[in-house]
Amino acid sequence: MRADYFLRAAGPLALLVLSLVPALLWAQQSPWSAWRGEVSATLSGIGLALGLVGMAAFALNIILGARLYTVQKAFGGLERLYRTHRANGRLAYLLILGHVCLIVAGRASLSPQDGLRLLSPAAGAVVFLGLIAFLAMTAAIAATLYARLTHEAFVYVQRSFGVIFAVASLHVFLTAGAKSSSRPLTIYLGMLSLAALAAFAYRSLFGNLLVRRYDYQVSEVRELDRNVVEITMAPLTRHLESRPGQFIFVTFYSDAFLSQFHPVSVRTSGASTTIVLRPGDARDQFHPFSLTSTPSDPDLKLVVKAVGEFTHALHKLDTGARARVEGPYGQFSHLNMRHRRQIWIAGGIGITPFLSMARSLDGTDYEIDLYWGVNDRAQAYFADELEGIERRVGGFRLFLVPEDERGFITPQLISQTSSLQDVDVLIVGPPPMERALRRQLEEAGVPPASIHSERFAFGPRR
Ligand SMILES: Cc1cc2nc3c(=O)[nH]c(=O)nc-3n(C[C@H](O)[C@H](O)[C@H](O)COP(=O)(O)OP(=O)(O)OC[C@H]3O[C@@H](n4cnc5c(N)ncnc54)[C@H](O)[C@@H]3O)c2cc1C
Repeated sequence: MRADYFLRAAGPLALLVLSLVPALLWAQQSPWSAWRGEVSATLSGIGLALGLVGMAAFALNIILGARLYTVQKAFGGLERLYRTHRANGRLAYLLILGHVCLIVAGRASLSPQDGLRLLSPAAGAVVFLGLIAFLAMTAAIAATLYARLTHEAFVYVQRSFGVIFAVASLHVFLTAGAKSSSRPLTIYLGMLSLAALAAFAYRSLFGNLLVRRYDYQVSEVRELDRNVVEITMAPLTRHLESRPGQFIFVTFYSDAFLSQFHPVSVRTSGASTTIVLRPGDARDQFHPFSLTSTPSDPDLKLVVKAVGEFTHALHKLDTGARARVEGPYGQFSHLNMRHRRQIWIAGGIGITPFLSMARSLDGTDYEIDLYWGVNDRAQAYFADELEGIERRVGGFRLFLVPEDERGFITPQLISQTSSLQDVDVLIVGPPPMERALRRQLEEAGVPPASIHSERFAFGPRR
C-alpha cells in the first residue's frame, strides 16, 4: 500500500519539479536586482519567467498525453494521469496567458503603441509566431472545456496541441532573451521540447507503427438489443494480458463497418439536430471499452452501447473483421482495493468492468454485493449469468434495481441489505448518478478514499 502510494505520488512530484526547473535556472541567470528597478523591466522579467515555466508545463503535458506505459504507471493509472493532464494543461495555459499579458504590459508601460504593436505582425515573425500559438492554444482549450465534443473530435483537438507546441517552441528558441544568454536553460528547454515532440510523434504521427498493439479477429457479434452489442475477438498472434476491470483501446477494419462512416452526417435526437463533420479516417479511431472477459480467456469480450457514430457502426460489424487492440489500461479492479468487503454499483452499461470482475471470482476471500441499476428488467442482459455466479461463488450477491420498480440506487436502499461500514464502494455509471451517489455515500459516512469510480469519458467532468 505504502509502495503504491509512493508510486502514485512519483508522477505529480516529478511534474512539479520538472516544471519549476526553468524558473530556477532563470533566477540564477537574472537575479532580482537585475529587473526590480523599472516597472517595464519588472513586468517583462516576471512575464518571461511565467513563459518559461508555462512552456515547460506545456511540454510535459504533451508527454503526459502520449499515454506512455511507464508514465501512466507513475501516476497510478490512466484515469489519474488524464486528471493531472487536464489540471496541468490549464495551469500551462494560465502561465502562458500571464506571460503574454505581462510582456505586453511591460512594453506598454514604456509606450502604449509599442505594447499594441506586439499584438500585430509588425512585431516581427518570431513574436507573431508566439501570438499565433497562444491564440490557437486558447481556441483548443476553449473547445475542450466548453464544446460538447465527440470522442473523435476530442482526440483531434488533443492532437492539435502537438502542432501548437511546435509553433510555440519556434517562438521560444528564436526569441533572444534570458534563455539565449543562459546555456543550461537553453539546453534544459531544448531537451524537454525534443522529448515532447518525440512523444507527440510516437503517439499521433507514427502511432500505427510504433505503439505496441495486438491483432485480433472478430469471432462473434451478438446484438443484445437495438442499442447494445456484445463483441468477441480471438487473438491472431499473441494475446493481451489483463486484470479484471481493465479497459482497452480498439479499432476495427471491415468494409461493412467502415462504410458506416461519412464525411458529413446529420444526427437527430428529440428536438435537436447535430451536423457532424468527420475530420479523419475511421481507421485511426481508437475508442476505449472495458473488457468483460476474464484474464484467463485468450478471447476478448466487449459490451458496447450505441451513443455516437463509432458505437452505432459497431452494430454492422461482421465476424471475420480485423481488430487492433491497445492496452490494457486502468487500475479500477476489486483486486486493487483495501477491503475485501466491497459494494459494486453499476448504472446500465456501467456493468461492463464488473462483468469481468464477477466472472473472475473464485469464491475465496471476497464479500461482494453488486447493485445493478437498469431502466427495466429487459435491459438486465447478464442477470441470469450473474445469478449463476451468485449460486456458484460464496460471498457474491446480486441485487437488481430496475428503476421502474424500485427507483434509483441510494445508500438507504443499499443499507437495507448491506452494511456500509468498512467497505470499498466501486461505482460505474452515468456521470450524474456517479456524482449523486458519491455525495450521498459521503453523507452516509463512507470515507471519500473508500469510494472509487470509473468514468466512461476522458473529457472534463460535466
Ligand atoms: C475507461 C472507459 C471505459 C469505457 N467502457 C465502455 C464500455 O464498456 N461500454 C461502452 O458502451 N462504452 C464504454 N466507454 C465509452 C465509450 O468509449 C464511448 O461511448 C465511445 O467511445 C463513444 O464513441 P462514439 O463515436 O460512438 O460517440 P461520440 O460521437 O464520441 O459521442 C459520445 C457521447 O457524446 C454525445 N455527443 C457527442 N457530440 C455531441 C453534440 N454535439 N451534442 C450533443 N451530444 C453530443 C453523444 O450523444 C454521446 O453520448 C468507456 C469509456 C472509457 C473512457
